Amino acid sequence: MIGETEMESMYGTCRFCGQTRMIEAADQQDADIKATKSCTCPDARLARKKAEIREMVQDLCGAGGAELGFTEMTSEQADVVLTLAEMIVSGKAISAALRIADSSVKISTAADGELKFSRNRIESMEARI
Ligand SMILES: [Zn+2]
Repeated sequence: MIGETEMESMYGTCRFCGQTRMIEAADQQDADIKATKSCTCPDARLARKKAEIREMVQDLCGAGGAELGFTEMTSEQADVVLTLAEMIVSGKAISAALRIADSSVKISTAADGELKFSRNRIESMEARI
């Protein structure tokens, strides 16, 4: 295995709840990261959800949105959307709707607890001569 660090079994500690678990890791830091990633405590789950949300927002508000014809948001605009999405998934806000860039963005949670994100763009053109 070229370029791969040798793994060994060691105890990793979840950085949220302190639970330890035996894990294959390159070093202690790697073990702690992996233990946190695989931990089922609410804070670790929320952190994973937030990481997924960050990816989704970056995609839909950035390059992914641009591929679909939306205006690519500035990092300032995408940060606002991300902050709102994180507040909603952590229960600090119920839902959000805002008009930003060339679109309207709605964020809410479904009955099953999943985060719902939608970005809509209404196109209209008018010409007068
Ligand atoms: Zn944990």
